[in-house]
Amino acid sequence: MARVNIPSFTLNDGTKIPALGYGTWLGMDAKFEFSAEGMPQMMEALSYAIDIGYRHIDTAHLYRVEPEVGKIIDKKIKDGVVKREDLFVTTKVWHHFHREADVEVSVRGSLRRLNLDYVDLVLMHWPMSISQDGVDEKIDYLETWRGFESVLSKGLAKSIGVSNFNVEQMKRLLANCKVPPSTNQVEINLNLGQKELVDYCQANNVVVVAYSPFGTMVPSRSAPNSPEPKLNNPTMIAIGKKYGKSVTQVTLRYLYQRGIVSIPKTVTPSRVVENASIFDFELDKGDMETIAKFDNGFRTVRPFFWQDYQNYPFEKIPDKMEIPESLRIWKNGLNLDID
Ligand code: NDP
Repeated sequence: MARVNIPSFTLNDGTKIPALGYGTWLGMDAKFEFSAEGMPQMMEALSYAIDIGYRHIDTAHLYRVEPEVGKIIDKKIKDGVVKREDLFVTTKVWHHFHREADVEVSVRGSLRRLNLDYVDLVLMHWPMSISQDGVDEKIDYLETWRGFESVLSKGLAKSIGVSNFNVEQMKRLLANCKVPPSTNQVEINLNLGQKELVDYCQANNVVVVAYSPFGTMVPSRSAPNSPEPKLNNPTMIAIGKKYGKSVTQVTLRYLYQRGIVSIPKTVTPSRVVENASIFDFELDKGDMETIAKFDNGFRTVRPFFWQDYQNYPFEKIPDKMEIPESLRIWKNGLNLDID
């Protein structure tokens, strides 16, 4: 069986986070509904990932997959493939749990669904607070953060962090917290380098985790108007050839050399191996500079239906849309019984 060896970065609380994790967001269909389609393959691919050496799993309450992720973890521990303490499991708190006391309610719910006593990292999924009815609750994320500090002190999570925070929000949080966030999980890929945010986080000892690390490079995400590089980009192919690596491997390696953790999602076993086989080569300075030129600020994930809500972290665009029901109300997802 293939085997991958994934190094770690150290968080500001001393814990280690594997530099590459397995992403579990199965996405939504064109109508913004959760689909069960990828679930069996995801369970198999996650199981395989752990077998070959992945130790970091990224999930969230939103994704409706915590029970399935928990089942795989349980099986791998029972089968003696891995010990709980060797795994790094991340989950996230959704918009309608932003009152200080509700953070613990959310984390305890995730632990029950995951069938775990603790998670390694829990993140505030977004800085906005929105009720299930779509009401802007305008809860300051500093209040929510106190709830995170509390779940940390109770041992429900070993580390706490944020996601989708911009530079201003990071500055304000760092200036007003007892425990600093260990991580900020944001979209980073070749089109969205996030240089200012990454520099700020790294200068302040916050590890950056890249979601959607392939951006629109992969066919499932590329649209006619989405920018280069795609998988067939000649510059990227030439760099890959030089090291005997694929375009996706060069992409993940580039992020790693910037000191960024990546959490690519794949339900394809060969890609599970491919994505983690990036720690045996080094891009030279010239190639790093060439790849950096693809950065044009293009966002793959742009949930503009939240843009009028307080603390929306991204620049606004003219488009308007109601929040999809599946992003507000839980019991219409893939798992109808998930709370
Ligand atoms: P990714 O950039 O990981 O892209 C996933 C897509 O890439 C899938 O279609 C997958 O196909 C394909 N793919 C994966 N590996 C390869 C490869 N080696 N070659 C070609 N195609 C490949 O996007 P995600 O948006 O899923 O982001 C990753 C993870 O980040 C999520 O799963 C989730 O855990 C997290 N996330 C967090 C967010 C947040 O707000 N904090 C927002 C979005 C994501 P296939 O599966 O068919 O192999």
